[in-house]
Amino acid sequence: MAQNMKRDMISTASCSRCGTCCRKGGPALHREDRERVVQGTLQTRDLYTIRKGEWASDPVQGGLIRVEDDIIKIKGHGGAWTCRFLVEPANACRIYEDRPVECRRLECRDTARLEQTYRLGRLARRDLLVDIEGLWELVEDHGRRCDYDILQGLMERNSGPGRAEIERQMAEMIRYDAELRRLMVARGGIEAEMMDFLLGRPVELVLRIFKRQATSRPQSR
Ligand code: SF4
Repeated sequence: MAQNMKRDMISTASCSRCGTCCRKGGPALHREDRERVVQGTLQTRDLYTIRKGEWASDPVQGGLIRVEDDIIKIKGHGGAWTCRFLVEPANACRIYEDRPVECRRLECRDTARLEQTYRLGRLARRDLLVDIEGLWELVEDHGRRCDYDILQGLMERNSGPGRAEIERQMAEMIRYDAELRRLMVARGGIEAEMMDFLLGRPVELVLRIFKRQATSRPQSR
């Protein structure tokens, strides 16, 4: 504990509070952040999930990678990557005293500490939802029906004679995802702003990212 406090003091002392890190995108959450969600410092409406199989930028490795499990992140604001808890122009963090673990580990002049732990112990939706009867089963079922490994496979085969059927399957995935979101809000009374955490970003949006990624990759022979 004393060691943690000392580390935080060093980190704070070396932070010039320029806000640059906070403008590069909100942090990904780790298991140590679970209580911050449970206690409400971080509300699920402030979060979104990058689901298994999605393309996401990896600041440690560089470039885009396909993620292997949930990455839960803080949303941006104003249509930008800037973390929604950054207060501008003061460059103050609205939750500084209880900011997530990645923000505590990041020292912009020496990112080694963050890099070593960046992929370890990430918080996943099941860590927060598994005990909520009915909801977790719905989220899991959505994951199976809107599986991004399947979507990637469809993208890779999306040419030639079977193309119409592949387009139909992709359209069905988009339709199911949109309809489930609509029903969960309209009939389940769930806040619309929570959907990007519960079900990840809309499949229609993710498909556009897949297509962009496919056209920017060098074609294999
Ligand atoms: S939670 Fe606070 S410190 Fe962390 S990125 Fe957001 S504004 Fe910056």
